Amino acid sequence: DKIGIDAGGTLIKIACMGPEGGLELRKAPVRELSAISAWLGGRRDARVCVTGGKSAQLKAMTDEAVADIPEFAATMAGAEYLLGKDSPAYVLTNVGTGTSIHRVQPGGHARIGGTGVGGGTLMGLSRLLTGLTDFEEIVKLAQSGTRGGVDLKVSDIYAGAEPPIPGDLTASNFAKLFLRDDMDDIPKADLVASVIGLVGETVATTSVLAAGQSGLSSIVYIGSSFFRNEPLKDVVRAYTVLRGGTPIFPDNGEFFGAIGAALSA
Ligand code: ATP
Ligand code: MG
Repeated sequence: DKIGIDAGGTLIKIACMGPEGGLELRKAPVRELSAISAWLGGRRDARVCVTGGKSAQLKAMTDEAVADIPEFAATMAGAEYLLGKDSPAYVLTNVGTGTSIHRVQPGGHARIGGTGVGGGTLMGLSRLLTGLTDFEEIVKLAQSGTRGGVDLKVSDIYAGAEPPIPGDLTASNFAKLFLRDDMDDIPKADLVASVIGLVGETVATTSVLAAGQSGLSSIVYIGSSFFRNEPLKDVVRAYTVLRGGTPIFPDNGEFFGAIGAALSA
């Protein structure tokens, strides 16, 4: 077997590739790094390649020799494997703990930029505002929230007048919490829905601008932040389209780096 491990800021992603091309994927929280290292000790039959910000730490814990490749190279190798290497140029946005934006074209790739607003922001702000720390719980709660009492839309500012840009765009995330008379009775569901709105709109806006700069419109969104996270996908999809881009959410988008690493093992 070939094993690829992408140890990121929050989650460890593991891809096991069998000799017949079978693929086994799993995730673990980054605090289980030493357990993963122990598990690797029992897999001396396999070829292993690690990547991601915590890969040096993982290597240091592991007795046997393991290869490593840079995070972006691993992501691109995974993208080439899962999306095809002859696909027309596109922008790839990885919403991990932080967000990283790349241009991918046949025969090359380049990092265009990024933003500190990412999946970690979703977790941190949600915790601050609600006390919740479980990703699934936060996403589930957001599903029942509405943003109208928290976020200020362009149409709120231009009430009764014709706005110069679509009224549905957010004029200012969280601004209503300042403009309203009191802070009573704001449901936690609304707060987390608005946190997801802030993250999704920032990620989509930055990605569409990056795509425009490269003359592209297709944007492939990956990273565990989208895992079973329809609220985030909905915001990113709608905002990307509203701003003229074409959003794509590939299956197993959180495993691009791990699969890329497995391919190099
Ligand atoms: P980076 O690439 O920035 O170093 P990473 O590789 O760990 O970080 P991902 O695994 O792609 O990042 O995404 C992490 C994000 O995924 C979290 O910030 C959170 O929003 C979301 N997430 C999804 N599932 C979970 C989970 N079970 N526990 C914690 N966060 C989760
Ligand atoms: Mg990552």
